Amino acid sequence: MSTKEDLKKLADYIFPNAKDWKEFVEKYPKRNLKEGAEVTRFAPSPTGFIHIGGLYTAIITEKIANETDGVFILRIEDTDQKREVKDGIEGIINSLNDFDIHPDEGAVCIKDGEIVEKGNYGTYIQSKRKDIYQAFAKKLLEEGLAYPCFMTEEEMNEVRTLQAANKEPIGIYGRWAKYRNIEPDEAIKLMEEGLEPVIRLKSPGQMDKKIVHNDLIKGKVEFPENILDIVIIKKDGLPTYHFAHAIDDHFMDVTMITRSDEWLPSVPLHLQLFDVLGFERLKYAHIAPLLKLDNGNRRKLSKRKDPESAASYYKEEGIPVNAVKEYLYNIINPSFEMWRKENENIPLSEFEIDITKMNVSGALFDMTKLLNVSKDIVARLNKDEVYNYTLNWAKEYDLELINLLNDNKEYSQEIINIERENG
Ligand code: GLU
Repeated sequence: MSTKEDLKKLADYIFPNAKDWKEFVEKYPKRNLKEGAEVTRFAPSPTGFIHIGGLYTAIITEKIANETDGVFILRIEDTDQKREVKDGIEGIINSLNDFDIHPDEGAVCIKDGEIVEKGNYGTYIQSKRKDIYQAFAKKLLEEGLAYPCFMTEEEMNEVRTLQAANKEPIGIYGRWAKYRNIEPDEAIKLMEEGLEPVIRLKSPGQMDKKIVHNDLIKGKVEFPENILDIVIIKKDGLPTYHFAHAIDDHFMDVTMITRSDEWLPSVPLHLQLFDVLGFERLKYAHIAPLLKLDNGNRRKLSKRKDPESAASYYKEEGIPVNAVKEYLYNIINPSFEMWRKENENIPLSEFEIDITKMNVSGALFDMTKLLNVSKDIVARLNKDEVYNYTLNWAKEYDLELINLLNDNKEYSQEIINIERENG
């Protein structure tokens, strides 16, 4: 057994300059919000364009905060720098802006080419939050709840092959975790020799134990407890998604996590991280994907195959933002359709969503229906609105059309007005 002093020595050796974790407890106090207010966050990674599924998540996330007089945060999760694309953060901010989605806190806009942040819980860009992640990794090292791991790629591959052959769970845990019980002095010696470790969680989970998670959308879900000693800090000093998620959502005082259900299997790990870090557990709402009917089969909308999967597609095609939003509301809660019939001219924001009634396994995204919603919306605009909308669209996408519209303004408006009741 390592003593407290040994563990402290190890933690100091690995993170000599880390701040005291208590500083962050003071820096990020609990929010003073009214009862029932939800703090939500949309937390994309700048790894490519915003997907329509991401936009759908963002709309739900913003709406929950707005309906409860809470706070809606935009956090940028850029800790996987290998996957980052150029101007990815700008792309996220602009896409949200195009859809009239306005975070209360976070990376809120771009001004003179710079990302502007707003709010007292920042920075909201993970790659700039190394100090907080390292302070808590150091705390876990001192408590013996994390350890440096020096396993090589080859060693890990060997472990995986053996586990697969033995039909055992795959990963670094228990007896497979070569450095789980390394003596601090021995670890320091390896580092002095030049080896660079990652920091792993020393998972307290037990094989064959189960946990029950109550998801706001999925309902009761049972999982095996997490047993994996996952990496919390990578060799580049940045955290993994899991570790950053627990720390950020705790210290940004988020109350409800709305995210894609691809993260549902990570819930046991995330709850364990909250426990190990001494944080209160949070509410989760895991959103099922948008599906497309393809030759009679349902499949996820694909970044590669479906142009309509990019949020930017709708702007390029001249489909009004409101049409996309109205259509997505239909998917969030089918009761929206009836509400809309009864409240034709009321702004969308008046409709109250109920996430507990959302589709659990995946909702069909139907372009034909979306275009019908769009037609209805365009039909309700007057000729000037349609003319101006078209002109604005053309400024970005069709220079020839701008000239035609400008040179023939009245004629264009007359055409637009044909069969228009509210001209
Ligand atoms: N950065 C994660 C992603 O883009 C977000 C997951 C989350 O919302 O917690 O998939």
